Amino acid sequence: MVRSSEEIKQDFLNIVSLRRWHIIGEYVNSKTPIEMECEKGHRWFPTPNTIVNNSSNCLYCARKKRWPGDIQAEAERRGGTYVRYETGSGTRSYVFICHNNHEFSIDVTLFWRGEWCRKCKENENDA
Ligand SMILES: [Zn+2]
Ligand SMILES: [Zn+2]
Repeated sequence: MVRSSEEIKQDFLNIVSLRRWHIIGEYVNSKTPIEMECEKGHRWFPTPNTIVNNSSNCLYCARKKRWPGDIQAEAERRGGTYVRYETGSGTRSYVFICHNNHEFSIDVTLFWRGEWCRKCKENENDA
């Protein structure tokens, strides 16, 4: 049974209200990405089709992606500021400025393991 686009849209709207998400963008059709906001305030761009067919969750809640706000909050907890995300050949890193004003980049995995500014660490070791 092939469902009409109207039925897919209805399913989509039902799922959205069940999950207490908000639709930020304009619904065009089931294949066009639409900006959504989950109940935690994360915003992402799924297509209605993936929500309906794969019952896919918010990318950030599903931990498929790190929400920039989480990175900033963690940086602030360590006394620094989040600057940007960088990808290179096989590397993924964040750039921060620490409370001593060092700008540094750090591997994403190392950051979440608790590593922080190397210059500060070196200075600590010298002292
Ligand atoms: Zn979310
Ligand atoms: Zn530092």
